[in-house]
Amino acid sequence: MKLVDIIKAVQSLNTTDQQRLLDFFTTNLKPFLTSEPIFNDILERKNADGYTCPHCSSKEVVRFGKYMVKVNSKDVERQRYRCKKTKGMGA
Ligand SMILES: [Zn+2]
Repeated sequence: MKLVDIIKAVQSLNTTDQQRLLDFFTTNLKPFLTSEPIFNDILERKNADGYTCPHCSSKEVVRFGKYMVKVNSKDVERQRYRCKKTKGMGA
């Protein structure tokens, strides 16, 4: 069975069965669904220990606002950093 066929099958289900399927996914695929916040947490901890510029390895990196990215068609907030040594660099 191809994914397209599975999607078609899901779309043909009634609302009650679709709700049951959603419950199944949220219960059984939790590690996948929560992967993004964990990833953000790791980034924040990395910063707490002293974030290093990927370009010049400088430790003089400051927080520089936030930006939104699309992850799995959801808006996710990301921290933007700016290196003090590499001036004029966008993000
Ligand atoms: Zn730098």
